[in-house]
Amino acid sequence: MTSGQRMVLVGIEEENVEGVWNELGMTVGQATAPCVHYVQACPGTAVCRYGKQDSLGLGIELEGLYLDQQLPAKLKMGVSGCPRCCGESYLRDVGVVGDSKGWTVIFGGNSGGRPRIGNVVAKNLSKGEVIDLVQRLVQYYRSNGKPGERTARFVERVGFDAIKQDVLSLIPYISLKDL
Ligand code: SF4
Repeated sequence: MTSGQRMVLVGIEEENVEGVWNELGMTVGQATAPCVHYVQACPGTAVCRYGKQDSLGLGIELEGLYLDQQLPAKLKMGVSGCPRCCGESYLRDVGVVGDSKGWTVIFGGNSGGRPRIGNVVAKNLSKGEVIDLVQRLVQYYRSNGKPGERTARFVERVGFDAIKQDVLSLIPYISLKDL
């Protein structure tokens, strides 16, 4: 298992790769394409005694929204079921953290060679609001990001104030004064 919760099978001869995919009954994974590479979710309330929210369930829903969708660059999500943040949510393009009041959404994080802690976009959201907000943020990035530009560099280039004005100010469940 990789840190991104992907399963890596190594040592398969090239001519056998297609057969392995067929036996698994899965579509071929995209290793380098500009799309959602993974949604990393901690066990949350499903398993963990510290869990405050169902991070695993939300992670599965978020992943399902973006299957086979093209974006300006690869995009990673991290969903954590409590503020201990085992899903590394502040260092993912899209991060979500649960607590006893609901969910916090974070955007523009990156853990790579030029790391960036993402901006907190909204707090105390319901699951439905998280899904709506993530879709709005990703659509904004899809429309305005340059090819190959990860969200961390995108937020640095356009500025978080522009995201507030263009996206967040239009959303009734977000209070800009709290950001
Ligand atoms: S973030 Fe919280 S709920 Fe998730 S695995 Fe870590 S301690 Fe458990």
